[in-house]
Amino acid sequence: MPYLTETRLLAIQPFHGVNPVFAGEVGAEAASIFGLLAKVNDPVAVPGAAWSRRRRQYRSSAFLGMLAELFPAAPPGQVLLGVTQDDLFIPGLNYIFGEADQRSGVSVISLARLKPERGDITAGLYRERAVKESIHELGHVFGLAHCPEITCIMHFSNTIADTDVKGPDFCARCAALLFQRADKSAAS
Ligand SMILES: [Zn+2]
Ligand SMILES: [Zn+2]
Repeated sequence: MPYLTETRLLAIQPFHGVNPVFAGEVGAEAASIFGLLAKVNDPVAVPGAAWSRRRRQYRSSAFLGMLAELFPAAPPGQVLLGVTQDDLFIPGLNYIFGEADQRSGVSVISLARLKPERGDITAGLYRERAVKESIHELGHVFGLAHCPEITCIMHFSNTIADTDVKGPDFCARCAALLFQRADKSAAS
């Protein structure tokens, strides 16, 4: 059962370097969990301010800032998921798989660390990880915090093994919260 009672749009924003078809398919699968309608925007350039020469990685905050700037042009109630190939970080962490800003309704995931390392792992795992990260960040967009339950999609992924352990589903507690929050945000 979808969590949203009103029709809302998920705009999927691929950044240059990402296959927009793949981003669209991943985003659409995540959108269906929430009951969001998905559409794919034309790819945009990676924000120049994102690159850190010292870390040789990209600042997640610059991606969220850019997406939030794009966002005012979007219809009310729309939420946005950016998809990048670039390796993201926030200060204090070696890397992150994604980040979200509930206030502006924007989120971003990075595909950089989702590629399976072993040959015996199918391409399906890559897609599955990307879908899980998308659902997780959208959960944040709808007001959910991290969950202590390791199989819940809202559990924090410190490494990719954490992502592989958790399911694509919300635990009962997070699901109940999501119903509440999604209703509240639809009304505002
Ligand atoms: Zn999180
Ligand atoms: Zn949970």
